[in-house]
Amino acid sequence: MTGVNRQIRLARRPVGEVRPEDWTHTEEPVPVPGEGEFLGRTRYVSLDPAMRGWLDDRPSYLPPVGLGEVMRAGSVVEVLASDHPEFRVGDLVVGAFGVQEYAVSDGKGAFRIDPALAAPSTYLGALGMPGMTAYFGLLEVGALKEGETVVVSGAAGAVGTMVGQIARLKGCRVVGIAGGPEKCAVLTGELGFDAAIDYRTEDVRKALRAHAPDGIDVYFDNVGGPVLDAALTRLAMHARVVLCGAISQYNTEGAVQGPSNYLALLVRRARMEGFVVFDYARRYPEAAAELAGWIGDGRIKVKEHLVEGTVADFPATLGMLFRGENTGKLVLRLT
Ligand code: NDP
Repeated sequence: MTGVNRQIRLARRPVGEVRPEDWTHTEEPVPVPGEGEFLGRTRYVSLDPAMRGWLDDRPSYLPPVGLGEVMRAGSVVEVLASDHPEFRVGDLVVGAFGVQEYAVSDGKGAFRIDPALAAPSTYLGALGMPGMTAYFGLLEVGALKEGETVVVSGAAGAVGTMVGQIARLKGCRVVGIAGGPEKCAVLTGELGFDAAIDYRTEDVRKALRAHAPDGIDVYFDNVGGPVLDAALTRLAMHARVVLCGAISQYNTEGAVQGPSNYLALLVRRARMEGFVVFDYARRYPEAAAELAGWIGDGRIKVKEHLVEGTVADFPATLGMLFRGENTGKLVLRLT
């Protein structure tokens, strides 16, 4: 196949917020698949807060994206040519194909998706990494029990919307913390949360006292910073704090702000445990089957925020996550 493959590469390591100059836009000939490989054309690109961490040259759970490399991203591609026994022309495949219009793959870490079961973008959200994060974070790390009180921050995002809905269908009381009245209205109106707190305008500590009068059994933290500190003051005995992410700290130039109220863990005999979803990779099929069932019977609503554009729109779209401009899973649909 002839043509141009437009790509987004990391030009320099960002300091603080990611800027347009941190990227280069490159063009290459469309690659040719070799023996046992397939060529895919990118249809949907996933935007994830973790991407900010991948740009820093620091030890983490994945190596940093190298300078000059195509930006790492999960995406859905359509197979255009294949010499791979498992992937045929026309298949839609999810994998880590990067921010580029075309990619060649040997199929490792790639999975064919069933567009009859769910929209392709949903395999990047509710049935993809964020859905797995919510499922294993809440049920395994959070060890959720029926009747408990669950509080989730970043509640109107990809992971948060799933956490709250899974907790509801497990018979828990769910309080979401999110930015702005519109997002709070989605949580309580559309997604069945029992209460929502707007951390931008409300006193979170006071609001938690009102909405979680018996204390928080599971606090699922996506944001860190002052919201985490406020939640720690309301823990119930033997509470579990699930350390999923800390987006409020990802663009910090100096030291990360840790929780000053951590002695609440001692007083409440609570635990705080971090996790990385990839550790559960072998169990994704189990979670995906259960989540697909809940989505299929309407007990879980899929919230997605699709932006239409080209790979050149990737940098600006990534910034939306840090300004809170998405509700649900943020995906760039290539037009
Ligand atoms: P979201 O869809 O939740 O998008 C990010 C949201 O974060 C924004 O919409 C915004 O919502 C909120 N936010 C941005 N800046 C701030 C801030 N300064 N303070 C408080 N909230 C802020 O993203 P995901 O659902 O994909 O990810 C949620 C979290 O889960 C992230 O921390 C991510 O790193 C983590 N994660 C961890 C994984 C793991 O394996 N541990 C795997 C996947 C995700 P609002 O308008 O409400 O502020």
